[in-house]
Amino acid sequence: MAKIGFIGLGHMGNPMARNLVKAHHEVHVFDLDRAAIETAVRGGCIGAYSLLEVASDKDFIITMLPAGKHVRSVLLGENGLLEQLKEPGFFIDCSTIDLTTTQDVHEAATFKGHGILDAPVSGGVAGAEKATLTFMVGGLHDAFIKAQPILASMGKNVFHAGAATHGQVAKMCNNLMLGIHMIGTSEAFILAEKLGLAASTLYEIASASSGQSWTLSRYCPAPVLPDTPACNGYKAGFAAAMMLKDLNLAIEAARNNDTTLPLTEKAGDLYDDFCRDSGALDFSAIIEFLKVR
Ligand code: NAD
Repeated sequence: MAKIGFIGLGHMGNPMARNLVKAHHEVHVFDLDRAAIETAVRGGCIGAYSLLEVASDKDFIITMLPAGKHVRSVLLGENGLLEQLKEPGFFIDCSTIDLTTTQDVHEAATFKGHGILDAPVSGGVAGAEKATLTFMVGGLHDAFIKAQPILASMGKNVFHAGAATHGQVAKMCNNLMLGIHMIGTSEAFILAEKLGLAASTLYEIASASSGQSWTLSRYCPAPVLPDTPACNGYKAGFAAAMMLKDLNLAIEAARNNDTTLPLTEKAGDLYDDFCRDSGALDFSAIIEFLKVR
């Protein structure tokens, strides 16, 4: 059993923390939102009243925060945990964030003698609830081996992607494919409808043909699969605003490294337009936006 501090108890963090409890770990939790802490406490976690309290004297400190600026405010600077913590800690950042912040956090943690991994996830809220997430981990191999059993309590696939930041690199590359696939799949169903081909027929044929993809077979944007957002009013799921955030992370990383990603940029423009009014909808709802353009 490990003593774990968990910071950030939103859609993802809350079920992840509760799965650590189910795996018999002692889990202390903190969030700016007291209601989120109370939900976690009902799941067997122990509530903390400050960042320092949740992080002190723990084997692992896991962060699951919205974006780089939140990770910076929790970990870096004079008031950040890397500076405040008296003893060496072991930080696992599961948030999806930018590479600059990730690199800064790795450098600052290592300088202070803390362990550190970037470990973003794929699998969404359903994966967080069912403990079937995929973890993509960046950092030293020894640190990865130490953290692996903890991450395995929250997911079914735990990959060591490579050195510091490579977890985030794997995540942004995966999600740029996902965003582009979703738009491509949506366009196919829009054209099929225009030409009189039933969505269920296209689904059946393309699932057995070379157009097959995860977005088609598991998360189809046309309403052919029960339990997908398309059959449930496009309630997120994985919000379009999150997809836009991830596409922008990839675009920024490419620009900072003299690389152009024309299709990712186009996908980013489309999600940007879509998110002006509908960012809270599931990202597969882009099919409805593309229909009326
Ligand atoms: P969320 O907005 O639901 O939760 C974030 C939580 O962090 C909130 O409860 C917020 O109060 C808390 N928080 C913010 N600043 C804080 C601070 N300074 N101290 C303590 N708590 C603080 O977000 P989410 O959907 O759980 O996503 C978290 C991360 O996981 C994001 O980086 C996201 O990109 C990534 N992710 C999300 C999904 C998904 O489907 N939602 C899937 C994969 C990855």
